[in-house]
Amino acid sequence: MALKIIESCVNCFACEPLCPSKAIYEAKPHFLIDAKKCTECVGDFDVPQCASICPIEGAILDALNVPLNPAGSLTGIPPEKMAEAMAELQAH
Ligand code: SF4
Ligand code: SF4
Repeated sequence: MALKIIESCVNCFACEPLCPSKAIYEAKPHFLIDAKKCTECVGDFDVPQCASICPIEGAILDALNVPLNPAGSLTGIPPEKMAEAMAELQAH
């Protein structure tokens, strides 16, 4: 029972101090979670603290590789509209 951080992590440092199990550590090229230490915050918090603060969609996955913050969950932009939204932003 552990979460994992993948390559889309931008090394923002937000999650590391929040982990009650001290399972998150700085590594190259991005932060990692020690699977032996991660408790998924069970017993400490109702929701995984790392995923609740992480600003990057899809950077933290559960044991089944399901993102805790799936595409669209933080931006409010549905995945199928993302390309369109980015093109619009870049045009300005
Ligand atoms: S789920 Fe909780 S225990 Fe596991 S790495 Fe994230 S903050 Fe730490
Ligand atoms: S909060 Fe997210 S982006 Fe920031 S260091 Fe942790 S996993 Fe990486």
